[in-house]
Amino acid sequence: MKLTYFGTAAAEGWPAIFCNCELCKEARQLKGKNIRTRSQALVNDDLLIDFPPDTYMHYLTYNFNLPEITELLVTHSHTDHFYATDLEMRCVPLAHPQPKIMHIYCNDKVEKKFYDFMPTANKVTDNFEIVHATPFVPIQIKDYTIIPLLANHDKTEECLIYLITQNGKTILYGNDSGIFPQATFDCIKRSGLHIDLASFDCTMQSKQEGNNHMGLIDVIETKKKLIEIGAVNESTICVVNHFSHNGLWNHERMEEEAKKHGLLTAYDGMEIVLRN
Ligand SMILES: [Zn+2]
Ligand SMILES: [Zn+2]
Ligand SMILES: [Zn+2]
Repeated sequence: MKLTYFGTAAAEGWPAIFCNCELCKEARQLKGKNIRTRSQALVNDDLLIDFPPDTYMHYLTYNFNLPEITELLVTHSHTDHFYATDLEMRCVPLAHPQPKIMHIYCNDKVEKKFYDFMPTANKVTDNFEIVHATPFVPIQIKDYTIIPLLANHDKTEECLIYLITQNGKTILYGNDSGIFPQATFDCIKRSGLHIDLASFDCTMQSKQEGNNHMGLIDVIETKKKLIEIGAVNESTICVVNHFSHNGLWNHERMEEEAKKHGLLTAYDGMEIVLRN
């Protein structure tokens, strides 16, 4: 199984779209891994996670077949994860030939946002199927078994993170979230799964947060809890992701700090392959 990170920033991007702070100015000069677009990832070549406004840019930058992708997991309704407006472009006459129906797995608030932005009902039924993702209830998509888990994020909606298993390998895609709710740790434990790749929210980098996003210190605590319940061990690849300039560490500094704790730092375009 392969995970490709297309976007690794928080909502504002990095450099942030309207920001002139020192870190954003520095990122514009350094370029490379310091340029981060909004959050999106692809599992293998057929399971997309989140649909930010930078999806189009990701399509231009990375070699993947967006028109052919029919399975979209959405974590929550924030714009950096679900930019509903661009989904209309998947409908004829804006796309030829008409792409196959896209299944969107999501919570109620994402569903509402989707209908608010979709101009006519027939465009919805001809092109999309909304599948409600319920926390802790497994979903079967092709040969993936996916367990939606409750995140610790915006309390006005049921924000989700996902445990994705295929051919005996498991990925935990863990943003946006602070330290996970106990029910999520319990569900991971109950599943008996060994996590091969754990990807954590590290929006706040140098700062401690834990109740909406994580800083590095919160990631370390979460990883420790996952080790205690037997889901993560020394063979697990652990990655930090979803960064904001408010965390105050550029890519090089983030990488240096993360490395001390056995964590990899995500960057736009990073690929991780899990071999059987
Ligand atoms: Zn976000
Ligand atoms: Zn900034
Ligand atoms: Zn969010």
